[in-house]
Amino acid sequence: MASARIVDLLRKGQVNDSYLVRGWVRTKREGKGIAFLELNDGSSLQGLQIVLPQDLDGYETLVKQITTGTSIEVSGILVESMGKGQRVEMQATAIAVFGTADPETYPLQKKRHSIEFLRTIAHLRPRTNMFGAVFRVRNACAFAIHQFFQERGFLWVHTPIVTASDCEGAGEMFGVTTLDLNKVAATGKPVDFSQDFFGKPAFLTVSGQLEAEIMATAFSNVYTFGPTFRAENSNTSRHLAEFWMIEPEMAFCDLEGDADLAEDFLKYIFNYVLATCPKDMEFFQERVNDRVMVNAQKIVEEKFERITYTEAIAILENCSKTFEYPVQWGLDLQSEHERFLAEEHFQKPVIVMDYPLGIKAFYMRVNEGTASDRQTVRAMDILAPGVGEIIGGSQREERLDVLESRIRNVGLNPEDYWWYLDLRRYGTVPHAGFGLGFERLVQFITGMGNIRDVIPFPRFPQNAEF
Ligand code: ATP
Ligand code: MG
Ligand code: MG
Ligand code: MG
Repeated sequence: MASARIVDLLRKGQVNDSYLVRGWVRTKREGKGIAFLELNDGSSLQGLQIVLPQDLDGYETLVKQITTGTSIEVSGILVESMGKGQRVEMQATAIAVFGTADPETYPLQKKRHSIEFLRTIAHLRPRTNMFGAVFRVRNACAFAIHQFFQERGFLWVHTPIVTASDCEGAGEMFGVTTLDLNKVAATGKPVDFSQDFFGKPAFLTVSGQLEAEIMATAFSNVYTFGPTFRAENSNTSRHLAEFWMIEPEMAFCDLEGDADLAEDFLKYIFNYVLATCPKDMEFFQERVNDRVMVNAQKIVEEKFERITYTEAIAILENCSKTFEYPVQWGLDLQSEHERFLAEEHFQKPVIVMDYPLGIKAFYMRVNEGTASDRQTVRAMDILAPGVGEIIGGSQREERLDVLESRIRNVGLNPEDYWWYLDLRRYGTVPHAGFGLGFERLVQFITGMGNIRDVIPFPRFPQNAEF
């Protein structure tokens, strides 16, 4: 018999029908001549209650052998449950044990563990309620992201993981080399990259944007969704060295269109998660962060605030709060500023537009208008309560001459960007896009405090277990 998923049995399993289920035992309770197990197969927060009657074959041995963490297969009949909070339970007719879990050493015994402790056992934490919920919501978000873009006719494009261009110009790249750097160092000579695998320095991608622009200037609307790497100080609660990024890119689109899409996008993902993972969301609200439902409701129902960077600076300058980092026109907003704007001042997501040219990447379109307008670029960041910046986007510079001089001004060599400039040389169009950190999104939705707890295998300085 094919095994049934527990989530399906709980929702729509037929009372009096026979089923087979497989999973891991969460808890065991023994009564007089009867035992109860809670079985979980990862398909839902709630497990299935299994009742072992005393006349079950091998009852004594099974009750002894089965402890928290044991993997089993149960054949049984679904019956109405007398217990609270569950519609059905299973009366076992046969149980087979796959693997036991020694209660002396298995860490996930029935008590609450701290998140910090669970982080040290990332190979076992997916078996807990909290991480089960996180990874199911993560999955739902990923599915909804594809659905959102596919429904709108965007093409999913695959940009390279190994790249030769530092898109953000922030010098946060991991090098990729097959050279034996110890040997090179011993010679005392500089590294000769012509001898390297690619014949020149190569890096793990920090963003697929430039390549996405290539695809957008052929397919109009495209998006990427893949891993991204930044060798930055990720000892914060919102930075990882390896994270996933979603980057849509739209030809014939300006910054306002870009912001509209980003807002629709976030509303869509939240709606999807609320509709498909209600129990997991309730869990986050009750056990992780009591702002989860308020945040979700605001995202779905309210229009996001839109302000300029200059207005943001004025708000920060005139508020009564004291910040650790300076607030000054021309400096980038720090996380404390971003969170103040979204959490305290507006109490909802805020789209900040038109940042100073000096703090943004070379590819962003320079504003036209007055002399001070021309000091700003068509950039937007979306700031969310709890996490700060969640999306960074911009309208791209589509004018060949302006782009060329911008590249020069930031100290890059236009020759290295010949292919990027070709996109402006031949059939250039206004275009725009944004980058959304997938883990920031999951962090925002679940209310989890640390980004390391929303990715199965977090990568940060001094940590690359598995
Ligand atoms: P921050 O200001 O938070 O460091 P950023 O401005 O450097 O972010 P962008 O280059 O704009 O980031 O990248 C786009 C998005 O990718 C960000 O809005 C954020 O959601 C996400 N992101 C950036 N860096 C990281 C990281 N190290 N770990 C996880 N997500 C990240
Ligand atoms: Mg950064
Ligand atoms: Mg930023
Ligand atoms: Mg940014």
